[in-house]
Amino acid sequence: MSSHYVIALDQGTTSSRSVLIDHDARMVDFVQRPFTQIYPKPGWVEHNPQEILFSQLGSLTELLARHNLSADDIAGIGIDNQRETTVVWDPSTGQPIANAIVWQCRRTADLVQELCGDPQVAARIRSKTGLMPDAYFSASKIAWLLDNVPGARKRAEAGELLFGTIDTYLIWVLTGGLVHATDPTNASRTMLYNIHDGCWDDELLELFGVPRSMMPEVRPSSGLFGETSYPGVPAGIPLCGVAGDQQASLFGQCCFASGQAKNTYGTGCFLLMHTGDVAVDSANQLVTTIAASAPGVDHTEYALEGSVFVGGAVMQWMRDELGLIRTAAESEALAASVPDTGGVYVVPAFTGLGAPWWESDARGTICGITRGTNRNHLVRAGLESIAYQVADLVKAMEADAGRPIDVLNVDGGASANDLLMQFQADILNRELHRPLNIETTALGAAFLAGLSCGFWSGTDELRALRASDDVFLAHMERARADELLAGWANAVRRTVAP
Ligand code: ADP
Repeated sequence: MSSHYVIALDQGTTSSRSVLIDHDARMVDFVQRPFTQIYPKPGWVEHNPQEILFSQLGSLTELLARHNLSADDIAGIGIDNQRETTVVWDPSTGQPIANAIVWQCRRTADLVQELCGDPQVAARIRSKTGLMPDAYFSASKIAWLLDNVPGARKRAEAGELLFGTIDTYLIWVLTGGLVHATDPTNASRTMLYNIHDGCWDDELLELFGVPRSMMPEVRPSSGLFGETSYPGVPAGIPLCGVAGDQQASLFGQCCFASGQAKNTYGTGCFLLMHTGDVAVDSANQLVTTIAASAPGVDHTEYALEGSVFVGGAVMQWMRDELGLIRTAAESEALAASVPDTGGVYVVPAFTGLGAPWWESDARGTICGITRGTNRNHLVRAGLESIAYQVADLVKAMEADAGRPIDVLNVDGGASANDLLMQFQADILNRELHRPLNIETTALGAAFLAGLSCGFWSGTDELRALRASDDVFLAHMERARADELLAGWANAVRRTVAP
C-alpha cells in the first residue's frame, strides 16, 4: 500500500477540522478553523455555507501543506458532519440561495405544527422516518427556504435548485459539481427519507412541498462518492466515507453490532445504540435512525438515539453564570474534595426535560441545600446531574431495545472527567469503556473511508487497532446507588411539579 494516511473532514456546528489519521488509527495531527454563528433573530441560527466550505478546505490544505502531503499520500477522505443543517444552492453558479438553516434553528416550529400537528400525520411521519416531527430536522427548513427566498419555489420546481445537508454540499463542491449525493445516516435526519424502504418518500416530499429533483442520491456510507476536483486541493483523492456526526462516532467507537452503544458527553449528550437490522420503535419517544454500515453489509442497519439537552453545558453555566469554577476541568478536583453532595441535587432543566420525562415547560431546580452546603457540593451535584440524566436515558433505551447495554462506550469533552465516569459506572451499574482517542467522530469518518478504499481490511482489523481503553467498573454498593437514584427521581419530580 503506497498511501500512509486517511483524512477525516470533521465538519461540526462551530468549527471545521481536517484530521490526519495513520494506519494504526492514530490521530497524527489536525487543523481546526472556526466559522461564524449567525443569529438573525431570537431562536434563529444560520451558517454561511461558503464560509463553512472555506473553513473546511482551508483546514485541509493547511494540513496537507504542514506535512508536505500530495494526493498519493492520502488513501481516501471521509466526511462527518453536523446533521440536519440545510443548504439549497443553484448548481449552475454554485451559489447558495441563502444562508444554511442550522439544526438548532427554531424558525419553522410553527410550520411543523401546522403541517404535522394532526396526530395521525405525526404517527405516519414517525412510522416512516423514525423521527418525531420537529423543526430540528431538514424537511421544514427546505420548505421555509423555498417559501421565503424570492423565486426559489419556481426555480426548484423547474429543477434549477439542489438541496443538501452539509456533507452533500461539500461533496458537490469538492467533486467539481459532478456528484450530488448523501449517505443513509444523513438522509435519515431529513424527515423526508423512508428508513424502511430506503428511499425519499413521495408523500413526505409532497407534504413539505419539496420537489424530488432537489434531492441527492443516497449512497452507502462506506463507498466511493467521487474524487477531489477543486482548485487548490490536490486532485484525484477518493471521497469514500460519509456519515452524520453521531453515527460516525458510533462507528468510530467500533459499535458495529446489535446491542453495542456509545454516549458522547459534550455540550449535550448523545446516546446511540446499534440495533442491527431491526428498526426498533421507541415507546419512550427516542428516535429510530440509520447507522453507518461497513462495506459488504447488504441490509440497512439501525440505531436508537436519545439526547440529554444540558450535559457538559451545566459546567459552562457553573463557570460563566455562577462563577463557581474557572474551567470545566477544575470541576473534578472540587467535586473530589467532598465525599458526596450532602444531599444536594441540581436538575439542569434549562430548556425543559427530555427523555424519558418529556416536560418542555420544566425549568431548572437545585434542591436539598442546607447551611453546610458549599461550592464543592454544588459543583459535584452539577457533575452528577450529567450522569443521572444519562442513566435515565440508558434506562429508557434498554426498555425500548428489550436488552441491557452491558458496556457503555464513552467519548466527548466531559468524558475526560474520571470522577464523572466513575460515578456514571456506579449509578448505572454498568461497565464504561473510554478509548484513548476520544475523537471518535473523526475516527468514524476515517474508518468508513479507509474500509471502502482497502486501507483497512475490515471491522475486525479496526477493533484490533483500538488501543487499550480506560475501563470504569461499578464499585458503589447497590443500596447506596438506589438511594441516590431515588433522590434524583424526587428532585426531578419537584422540577416537573414544583
Ligand atoms: P461539543 O463538541 O458539544 O462542543 P465537547 O465534546 O468539546 O463539546 O465538550 C465540551 C463540554 O464538556 C463543555 O460543555 C464543557 O463544559 C464540558 N467539559 C469539558 N471538560 C470537562 C471536564 N473535565 N469535566 C466536566 N465537563 C467538562
